[in-house]
Amino acid sequence: MGLNKTLPTNPGDGKTSYANNSSFQNVVISKTWDLVDETLRNMWEKGGFSDDCYNMVDLGCASGPNSLSFVTHVIHAIQDLRKNSNDSPEFRFFLNDLPENDFNSLFKLVENFNDGKEVVCQLSRSGCFVYGLPGSFYSRLFPRKTLHFAYSSNSLHWLLQVPRGLESENKENIYISITSPPEVIDAYAEQYKRDFSTFLRMRGEEMVPGGRMVLTFVGRRFEDPTSKEQSRHLTMLAHTLLEMVVQGLLEKDDLYSFNVPIYMPCQEEVDYIINHEGSFKIDKIATFPVRWDANKLVDELPFDKNRSGKLVANCIRAFMEPMLVSHFGKLMNCDDLFKRYAERVGEHLSKERSEYIMLSISLTMR
Ligand code: SAH
Repeated sequence: MGLNKTLPTNPGDGKTSYANNSSFQNVVISKTWDLVDETLRNMWEKGGFSDDCYNMVDLGCASGPNSLSFVTHVIHAIQDLRKNSNDSPEFRFFLNDLPENDFNSLFKLVENFNDGKEVVCQLSRSGCFVYGLPGSFYSRLFPRKTLHFAYSSNSLHWLLQVPRGLESENKENIYISITSPPEVIDAYAEQYKRDFSTFLRMRGEEMVPGGRMVLTFVGRRFEDPTSKEQSRHLTMLAHTLLEMVVQGLLEKDDLYSFNVPIYMPCQEEVDYIINHEGSFKIDKIATFPVRWDANKLVDELPFDKNRSGKLVANCIRAFMEPMLVSHFGKLMNCDDLFKRYAERVGEHLSKERSEYIMLSISLTMR
């Protein structure tokens, strides 16, 4: 137990894996394609794809079906743009995540994906290559001036780590909440400012002049970070953990020292950091809501609080379990925690259909 560092999602393809519990993120991704298409079209119109080789990256790709949707989509978009052109540049697609990410499962998907399916077969013939890229996106990942296009979905709200000095200050909260002391709120905002500025600086060094990025992550609607609506899903998780402490199933000190290395910024904050850091100019910035229980397969069905509660709980478990287990150790029974949490969320959703606020930005290197 110690500083809460960001850890990757649940590996493999089992019941609790990220691969099988990322339908919410899949809905978000499908809402980013218009901005990706527009950004690539702009790139194309500003000089076409006239270099010999283009480097594209998905930052924080995880492992599972979502990880390859970036490659598939961009390949199609570029094919469309180049329909009537004679040049034949080649493309490198880098799939980036933390080194502990389940890259083995990811590589298997890439291999199967290649197997007889038209998209990549056609493209490998026309020069598209897929690589794994382990490392933190808060550090340099590419040589200077070599990156053409960076994409990231559902990842950039993850901080490098929980802000230092916060241990135990935030008591039974696990993120910013109405009862968090001002030092905690400031520490989170400062950590985000530092991390997001570092991210921009690193990409600024790596990108070719005119390089582009499309970034989508969880944000918040209001400037006030303590507003209840912003982080209710985490407040409800904190309440579930507290219930288990009261029942003697978890240690109080462990809860008091647990905080989540996430920050959900508002649009004004993001705008300020990008302009202040200075490497990129904003072409477009927008927010859009996505329901907590969004899932393409069941969206048409009538609301069912048990199903929705489980969907939300399984999704959060898929990315929180490694951190919870690493912090609470042997006492942490995730089956129990997320069963309780699913019931709590189901009850809440039967009264109010809560939404996450997603922030999407298209940026050009200055
Ligand atoms: N893009 C995928 C995965 C989102 S889950 C999707 O939309 O479905 C968030 C991912 O970001 C996790 O896999 C996590 O390991 C990764 N991540 C978090 N911090 C990171 C960092 N500093 N560098 C690289 N990846 C990071």
